Amino acid sequence: MPQPDPTHLPFSLAALGSDFAPATPDQNRPETPGCWIILRENALVLCSGTNALPDGVLPVPGPFAVPPVLVGLWQGRPLRAARLEPEAALPAGLAAVSASYRSQGLDDRCITLAGLARQVLHWRDRSRICPACGGSPGEIGGSFGARCPSCAREYYPRIHPAVIVLITRGDEFLLVRKADWPAGQYGLVAGFVEFCETLEECVVREVLEETGLAVSDVRYLASQSWPFPSQLMAGFTAAYAGGELVPDATELEAAAWFSARRPPPILPPRASIARYIIDRFAPGLGNATGNP
Ligand SMILES: [Zn+2]
Repeated sequence: MPQPDPTHLPFSLAALGSDFAPATPDQNRPETPGCWIILRENALVLCSGTNALPDGVLPVPGPFAVPPVLVGLWQGRPLRAARLEPEAALPAGLAAVSASYRSQGLDDRCITLAGLARQVLHWRDRSRICPACGGSPGEIGGSFGARCPSCAREYYPRIHPAVIVLITRGDEFLLVRKADWPAGQYGLVAGFVEFCETLEECVVREVLEETGLAVSDVRYLASQSWPFPSQLMAGFTAAYAGGELVPDATELEAAAWFSARRPPPILPPRASIARYIIDRFAPGLGNATGNP
């Protein structure tokens, strides 16, 4: 498979295309007008009835839960992100639109921009206070890092690696369900990498813990940035190699084998690498189940 993948899953640089260029917070010039990724809870603020970002020096007066920060350039202009307090009102002409990976109303670029902002603002929020001495870290030039002026410790953004895996058995595949997912929706086994563990070892451990099954032939497929709040998902397939299916009741509500002839009621959202992996293994399943 060519990398990066031409399908352009959201939450990637490819999804933003040539309109976006990286920049770091220290390059900010607050008086220069630009484009804004403004979040309020799980929603993205857009010009009403459009997919257009608000424009200007500061299009929303606040109050801000996380103050504005430069995250890059958009079509050559400053691209800043900020998080409003939940009760903040919006000026006329702006509207807040749900920007979850489950959202249907936004295009991939808007979902990706909202994800970028969510991840950066999460880091800014978590790095406001030095955990060693309680000082107030400032920016490290040319990076998203933070240096504490009191104790000189430096901190850099934390992106947490995780694996997500489709277990296959002939033309069948195993999907799992968590209790807090929408009714009828199934997904893949997934989990965070632990100390002294490779991605492949993590796949084997997570599958065993969540399902009781052994797997072999662990194969990497693709990855996806997952800004909920700050993961990198590494996607795999793995072949069933033995064991009885016993779902871990502390994590899962259900687990079952499916196939193209016996599909799950609802597939993972199209924006997710979970769906991408399923679509590669069972092409056409989305249309067959009414989950395009
Ligand atoms: Zn400190």
